[in-house]
Amino acid sequence: MNLTTDQQALLNTLPLISHLKEQLELFWENPLLQNFSEVKEHLVLNGSDIKDAADRLDRFAVYIADVFPETAKSNGLIESPLRAIPNAQQALSTLAAQELPGKLWMKCDSHLPVSGSIKARGGIYEVLKHAETLTIEAGLLNTDADYRALNTPKLRGFFAQHSIIVGSTGNLGLSIGIMSAKLGFQVSVHMSADARQWKKDLLRSKGVSVVEHADDYSKAVEEGREQAKKTPRAHFIDDENSQDLFLGYSVAALRLQRQLDENKITVDADHPLFVYLPCGVGGGPGGVAFGLKQVFGNNVHCFFAEPTQSPCMLLGMYTGLHDDICVQDIGIENKTCADGLAVGRPSAFVGKFMEPLLSGIYTINDDNMYRLLKLLKDTEQLSLEPSALASLPGIVNLLSKGKAYLEQHNLKDKMEHATHISWATGGSMVPKEEQRRYYQIAQNLT
Ligand SMILES: *Cc1c(COP(=O)(O)O)cnc(C)c1O
Repeated sequence: MNLTTDQQALLNTLPLISHLKEQLELFWENPLLQNFSEVKEHLVLNGSDIKDAADRLDRFAVYIADVFPETAKSNGLIESPLRAIPNAQQALSTLAAQELPGKLWMKCDSHLPVSGSIKARGGIYEVLKHAETLTIEAGLLNTDADYRALNTPKLRGFFAQHSIIVGSTGNLGLSIGIMSAKLGFQVSVHMSADARQWKKDLLRSKGVSVVEHADDYSKAVEEGREQAKKTPRAHFIDDENSQDLFLGYSVAALRLQRQLDENKITVDADHPLFVYLPCGVGGGPGGVAFGLKQVFGNNVHCFFAEPTQSPCMLLGMYTGLHDDICVQDIGIENKTCADGLAVGRPSAFVGKFMEPLLSGIYTINDDNMYRLLKLLKDTEQLSLEPSALASLPGIVNLLSKGKAYLEQHNLKDKMEHATHISWATGGSMVPKEEQRRYYQIAQNLT
């Protein structure tokens, strides 16, 4: 326990703290959510920052298509499918014994090319931006050039003199490691104890230096930060604070907007959009949600999902203490099967940034993530990693526990026309055997 007496006194006045301690699943509405048109101008980032990131990814597209042939069919854009999951929606309705009006979709970031998780957005973006900055500063590239030049011995030799360092529970390490190694950087990934063996093996096979830690995510990040200080020409990718990562994630909103158009899905005051995003340190879901608010304003309602063992963003936003508090401070251990979400202390900037933008946060326990993993596999033949399943009960939770929210935002009679998106954040790279083990665990539960 590292709280001051004032902080402790504050916690004693907050009714949800005891529920969090008992690891009960809960649904929290953010009381600080504001009308988007009123907060828009006061945010430290805006739509032109997202556009800038999207343009940068467009410049790199020819290079990406060249070095990752699996992205050739999307012309070098690393993008995932949006798919309707009516069978899962039906099964959820039966399971919850509850009607689920509207239509449920899944945004399959689990199937993003290159690194198979949402981290292929922010992580790869930050590495590319760093590579671009370095080469432009060195007079080796300009923004009008053909970026396939990055894949030449000269530039690879240039990058080999520079290092990239990151701390991760696994997936960020995968995306940073794969992208950095491809460009030719020296790259070190500091992995927390939660990181899966297959992720470490895969990275090592690509020449990435993997440093293993016996502690959790916060410690792995700290160790990475220390190493970066001692290493010349090193760039530390700071998952807890990076605006570049955040903006890389936010580009997803522009891509999603196009997919909604292609599917003739209307989003307006009478056709609300609800998006459920699994949250670890906050950058991934925060960046996506920020982008979505820029695109859809008050017509999109974003909810984060966290494990009952790692509700760091909920704890930080609910108490207003943000990164001054961690789940261990209230006696929770941060031990969850959802390795991508196994974070005890939230990002220093994401929670504050999201204060006027986020609709709410709910929690889910490990057993239910496994049950939903099986449900999704059985109904839609989709295999995800446990973290991603945190997004799936969002529609049920909103309609059962979020009635006050729907009332307050005048949404109750619009739910027949609502679109719900469960953001599937990872899973396609999980080895078959590991996937079978997850399924088996679920089978033993039911
Ligand atoms: C990292 C990750 C998240 C959450 O992203 P944060 O930026 O840590 O909040 C969600 N799901 C998966 C599978 C992840 O790897």
